[in-house]
Amino acid sequence: MAPEATDANGVLFESDTATPDLGLKKTSVQIADDTPWAYDWQHVIQVPFLYVFGLYGGYLFLVAAKWQTGLFTCLLHLMGSLGVTAGAHRLWAHKAYKANLPLKLILLLFQTLSMQYSVINWVRDHRMHHKYVDTDADPHNATRGLFFSHVGWLMVQKHPEYERKSKLLAMNDIEGDPMLRFQQKYYITLLLLVNFVLPTLIPVYMWNESSINAFFVAAVFRLLVTYNMTALVNSAAHKWGHKPYDKNMLASENSLLSLAFVGEGFHNYHHTFPWDYKAAELGSSIYNLSTMFIDFFAKIGWAYDMKTVSDELIQKRVERTGDGSHNLWGWGDKDQSKEEVDAAIRIHPKDD
Ligand SMILES: [Zn+2]
Ligand SMILES: [Zn+2]
Repeated sequence: MAPEATDANGVLFESDTATPDLGLKKTSVQIADDTPWAYDWQHVIQVPFLYVFGLYGGYLFLVAAKWQTGLFTCLLHLMGSLGVTAGAHRLWAHKAYKANLPLKLILLLFQTLSMQYSVINWVRDHRMHHKYVDTDADPHNATRGLFFSHVGWLMVQKHPEYERKSKLLAMNDIEGDPMLRFQQKYYITLLLLVNFVLPTLIPVYMWNESSINAFFVAAVFRLLVTYNMTALVNSAAHKWGHKPYDKNMLASENSLLSLAFVGEGFHNYHHTFPWDYKAAELGSSIYNLSTMFIDFFAKIGWAYDMKTVSDELIQKRVERTGDGSHNLWGWGDKDQSKEEVDAAIRIHPKDD
């Protein structure tokens, strides 16, 4: 078993919370060092192409594509997003719940639809992001700026600190999974098949869409949207929003982003309790479609052993490290003070 990485900043698994301070160091956010960027030229060329062709696909989506292609594109985007959030993120990176084989296969297919590296590589990057959040060992270190954390990090070589510390990261559970190794081994073939070949052929043969519309809308534009929604969690959610659970980090709460990206914008909560399968204090709702998805599969027995955080633990953490912005949801909220309850004016009161 690989040794645990040291000097960690963030909580990674439920066991990290065994320490009295819930695994967090008491250091404030560090500033990135001035190591020059070593460009990854393949991506420096590929990423702008994705943006240019993707925007052209967006134009076709608005003015030329058939409605069936538009609907199909939205469906693929939703599937790819859930593959990232419910699959690579909550299931594999954080082990926040367990899934049976059929659900794992669905999530693996969905995750491949996002074109965000194999699950093994995604998990390594994401565990590094949590364990060394906002430092040089974080692959999309937000202290390097909004552009870097959003997309710039894809176009440069990993920082030497990442290379050094990632060798010590515990990845045995992921690297030993035969299904994930299969995806890693045939990743390029699978990626081309599910992201480009099928999304082009299905609209052409099923509802007589033109191949140009099918390719640029259902494949390229869709991938651009899915990527940018995911990337906003790394960029915007590490820059704007409140910090009701822990003010000593950049990760922030952003409800708008949660609505747009299937429940992953409650980022201050998520970095505080990354092993909660809801990735938010909030459960199933339109703001948290990924939790709805997992809860649905839990009902039919395909998802199980979901971990979540007790109200008491949340309350203690909010009081100890929050920035004071943890809102009451209404009357009777656990954070409502006795003084406020006593001072409230109640008309025709009746307690059940
Ligand atoms: Zn983050
Ligand atoms: Zn996470």
